[in-house]
Amino acid sequence: MPEDAEVHRCFATEYVTARQRLLDQAEKMELEVESIPITEKGPHEETLSTDYLWFGPKDATKLILHTSGVHGVEGFPGSAAAIHILAALKKKEMVLPDDCAIAFAHIINPWGMAWLRRVNEDNADLNRNFLPPGEEYEGEPENYAKLDHLLNPTSMQKGREYYTIRAAWHSFRLGFANAKQAVQEGQYTRPKSLQFGGSELTESSQNFIAWCERNLTNVERVVWIDFHTGLGPFGVDSLLVGENVNEAALKQRYGARIQPLDPKKGVAYKIRGGIQAGIEARFPDKEWTSITQEFGTIKPIPLLRLARAENRLTQWSGKPPLRLLGSTERREMLDAFNPRSLKWRKMILERSRAIIVDAIAHLSEE
Ligand SMILES: [Zn+2]
Repeated sequence: MPEDAEVHRCFATEYVTARQRLLDQAEKMELEVESIPITEKGPHEETLSTDYLWFGPKDATKLILHTSGVHGVEGFPGSAAAIHILAALKKKEMVLPDDCAIAFAHIINPWGMAWLRRVNEDNADLNRNFLPPGEEYEGEPENYAKLDHLLNPTSMQKGREYYTIRAAWHSFRLGFANAKQAVQEGQYTRPKSLQFGGSELTESSQNFIAWCERNLTNVERVVWIDFHTGLGPFGVDSLLVGENVNEAALKQRYGARIQPLDPKKGVAYKIRGGIQAGIEARFPDKEWTSITQEFGTIKPIPLLRLARAENRLTQWSGKPPLRLLGSTERREMLDAFNPRSLKWRKMILERSRAIIVDAIAHLSEE
């Protein structure tokens, strides 16, 4: 387990500090940083960017890709994980095989991290925004309309809030797996509601695709770890993979934590517009092993209740951005996706490195 001091060094409390720590780590390692800004600014008028680091030969044909902050606020532990992995590379506690590099995309959704939201400046969930080329941004899951009034109240007026009871009732009527699927799949019809996938590729999504176009030309094999928090048992990571992968082979390499994206089989659900499927569809000439490393924090119903309250406040309270940022709801988002528990943070850091060790072993095979 990492020391307390390492935890404090890696975990920041603001986007600007997280970014600065990454840049400091890069400087120590004499790594170039490619910073790609977005138009929107942070709460201190600071520039918001995704920062890219490349460690290893520039013309490597094998690549480990580590992405974080697709869901903004989840970028706090995601950034800590990246910094912790980089430190291990610097100390040569991890050594890449020949012809292999590791790249970090630090905070795919910087606006969401800076403003303590999961979604971006368009209220879009970037892990629903990468529809394959040619697919229209329209449609919603079959049961979403039934749940909409429950998930997305359109005023701040407090009626009787039987939310937990009603949520439980709905999941009972639809079945928990069906309710989870309806809520989480992604919808393209209600821009102010939860799990909106956007009305087009967002600026951040386009920036990431452009970076891939510029940097993956020589790459033939990729093991991609996309870091998330929220789902599953406290501090434990589930490794979520597409339905069409060779599950048995992946379990051999990465352990029993491997789980297909199927609502009946585990903590997750099928999604539309996921970043990993969307990138694979755009770069079909590469051999992809795409894993969503998802660390558990709190239970799904309280998490959904919080996401609902935070979105309601953002959409309907009329409060200015800085008041929203200072709200209880946003602070609770931070705590729910980045628990303060030292034990949780140590578990996160340890497993963040361990999966890279497994990826290195995987790419060392012929
Ligand atoms: Zn996430």
